[in-house]
Order: sequence, then C-alpha cells, then structure tokens
Amino acid sequence: MLTKIVIANRGEIALRILRACKELGIKTVAVHSTADRDLKHVRLADESVCIGGPRSVESYLNIPAVISAAEVTDAVAIHPGYGFLSENADFAEQVEKSGFVFIGPRAETIRMMGDKVSAIAAMKKAKVPCVPGSDGPLTDDLERGMKIAREIGYPVIIKASGGGGGRGMRAVHSEAALSSAISLTKAEAAAAFNNDTVYMEKYLENPRHIEFQVLADEHGNAIHLAERDCSMQRRHQKVIEEAPAPNLSETLRDRIGERCAAACREIGYRGAGTFEFLYENGEFYFIEMNTRLQVEHPVTEFITGVDIVKEQLLIAAGYPLNYTQKDIHVQGHAIECRLNAEDPKTFMPSPGEVTRYHAPGGPGVRVDTHLYNGYKIPPYYDSMIGKLITHGSNREAAIARMNNALDEIVIEGIKTNIPLHRDLLKDAAFKAGGSNIHYLEKKLGM
Ligand code: ADP
Repeated sequence: MLTKIVIANRGEIALRILRACKELGIKTVAVHSTADRDLKHVRLADESVCIGGPRSVESYLNIPAVISAAEVTDAVAIHPGYGFLSENADFAEQVEKSGFVFIGPRAETIRMMGDKVSAIAAMKKAKVPCVPGSDGPLTDDLERGMKIAREIGYPVIIKASGGGGGRGMRAVHSEAALSSAISLTKAEAAAAFNNDTVYMEKYLENPRHIEFQVLADEHGNAIHLAERDCSMQRRHQKVIEEAPAPNLSETLRDRIGERCAAACREIGYRGAGTFEFLYENGEFYFIEMNTRLQVEHPVTEFITGVDIVKEQLLIAAGYPLNYTQKDIHVQGHAIECRLNAEDPKTFMPSPGEVTRYHAPGGPGVRVDTHLYNGYKIPPYYDSMIGKLITHGSNREAAIARMNNALDEIVIEGIKTNIPLHRDLLKDAAFKAGGSNIHYLEKKLGM
C-alpha cells in the first residue's frame, strides 16, 4: 500500500482525499498556500508544508514546490485532485521522473486526451460515438473546410484542439461566416492555448450533457460506473448534477458505458476518468475525456456504492480493481448541488468569514465541504465552498431530501447560491427532468 501521499489541492476535495487516505491507513501531507493555513484538511493532515504565496501560480500550480514537498516529507505519491495540476501532462511526467507515483493516468494518456483532435481520433478508433466532424485539424484549404461543413450540414462549430474551460469555440450558421470564424478561432487559440490547431464539428442545438464515469487498473481491467446528467449549467459551469440521467434506457447505458470501458482497455487507461458526451435525440456524441477525479463524483458513489477516491488510491498502489462490471448496479437516484460563495442573483464572488455554519443531516444526505464556524474564505480561488448531495430510492425521493437539506443548512456571514438551488429544486422543468444545457441560462434570462 502507499505509505504517505501529498494532497496537491485545497478545499473540499483535499478533505475528501484526506478522508479516503485515513480509511486506508495512508499518511497524508497537506501542501497549502500562505492564504490557506486554516483549511480544515491542513489541520487534520499528518504533516503540512506551505508551498508558496496566495496566488495559485505561486503555490498550487508551482510544480517544483509541490514535488519538493513530496521529497522533504518522504511521501511516495501525489494526488492532484481536480483543477490546478490535475490534467497537466508535464506535471504527471515530472512527478514520475522524480520517483513518485502520480495518482492518475500516465502522462502520455493525459497529453493525448488534452489534445481534442488526438482524443477524438483515439475514441473513433475505439468505436466511441463522436460528433460528425472534420476528423482532424482544419487546414488552410478553405474549399476543403467548406466541403466538410456542407457534408455535415450547418450549423457547425469550430473548436480549438487545445481548448478548455468552455473557451476557444465558435458556432457558424452559414457558409458566408465560415472563413472568418476559422481565422478568428485560430487566432484566439494561438493566443490562449499556444496552439492554433482547430477542427470542425456539427453544432448540436439542444443537447443534454451526459458523462460516464470509468475506473481502470494497471492490469487491463476497466469498468464503467454508469452516467451522470450535468445539463444544469451556467457559462459552462455545472450547477446541479445527478445520477443516473433521467429517462435514459438501461440498454443504452450499458451499450455506451461498455464502449467507454472498452476504450479504456484499448488505450491502456489507468485510474478514474470521465467520458463527456452531448446527448440529443437519443444519440450520444463524445466531446472530451477528463483524466481526473470530478467535482460531481459523489452522485456516482451514492448510486453505485463504490468509493471512487479509495479506488484511485488502490489502483495507484498497483492493486487490481475491486469490482467487475457485474458487481455494479445502479441503486436509486442521487443529486448534487454545488455550493458557491457568491451572490445568488449577480453571481459575484462573496469571500469572507463564515460566522455561522450548520450542516444538514438525515438519511441519504452527504455534505462535502471544508467549512466550519469562523472559517475565512480567501478571495484567491474558485468560489465553490462545498457540495450538498442527496440520495433516495428514486428521483422524487432524492429531490425531497435535497429540499430538506437546503432548508436545514445554515451558512452566514457570506452570500451563497443556496437561494438559487431552493428555486431550482422547485422548478417544474427541473422536477420533470431531462432539461438541455441551455435551460438554466434561459431561465436566468441570460
Ligand atoms: P471544454 O474543454 O472547453 O470544456 P468541450 O468540448 O467539453 O470544451 O465543450 C464545452 C461545451 O461547449 C459543451 O458542454 C457544450 O455546451 C459546448 N459544445 C462543445 N461542442 C459542441 C457541439 N459540437 N455542439 C454544441 N455544443 C457544443
């Protein structure tokens, strides 16, 4: 087993990883910025190392500082969590070159999936359904681009191969607009991602966002843990997630899930990962793979009973998966509300002191947060301060429990998006289930 690991992250996910380590008897090293000395997991970890200033580039994105912390504490592995360095192939490579285990896929897998053109090529080869598109980069040959667009049919979308975070893409509704859309996206991609490769896809107008969780070990075993529906989004940021996806047939789940697991076996995937799809008119279209733990992993843990973080640690230690596909059964329904320190109407971040915090409880309620009474939320990082997750025997039961939890939770001293969640949980379209990715922004009048 791994003896001691560095948790290279902060906030709720660092605490989540720390809890899994303690259950497995793994010692923990919390690395933190000067602004994060009071984080809950820093206090609970076996050791802690301050790795730099408040700005992420000085600390959580500072590769030499994170690796040095592993060296001085005699840790054997590094868990990157999500965000920060979690999908940085160079970091994964340097971690392993320095003699530590990177708790995640191999660097070359991260690199391949980080480049969308190569990720799509690998997925097509593995027979994962993809969006009809250019099957590779767009060249300077505009005639060729126009021909591809005509074949796919407008609207199309031009996307940066190195893009991320919802940036570097542009929808095109007619041939007249194609040429300038390609050059603009290329220029933006060069500036933002240092890579001007762009490609074309059919633009899907009203899709849902449905993603499949996978786990794969070093011994060639791979399984899927069913899907999550993350269509409730604002500015490409997920607000509510749930599992399973409302009204998705078991046959389709099994078929797409098995394709994802097979793709993992084919590319030699290692660890936890997520295949993101757009889903429209009963069809799945792969858009990208996330090669890390996701914020919304708890809904999957609730419906499958699998502890995804513990599995990540066991896989990194070289153990075979604890489960085969036959062991995985979807039980009931789970919903997650992301709690943000922000104004529920303007969405302006609202850092500051949490003067009072009271957690909700009861059957089927899970709270993943690092908050405590008197904790001061620093202004330097993402505004997410935790997640409220509920589980019930069916979707209605999970919603009822979420309503209770949202009524019970108390967070004072800062503004939060809890009022938005209370509204959304009572929204008729949300209650019906199956809204597309534009629903929330339309409701908010954006
Ligand atoms: P990123 O890595 O920036 O998150 P993705 O490829 O995952 O980029 O796409 C982000 C979002 O952009 C999707 O969730 C969807 O809302 C939109 N999008 C991407 N590709 C398409 C497409 N072919 N048709 C319609 N919308 C798309």
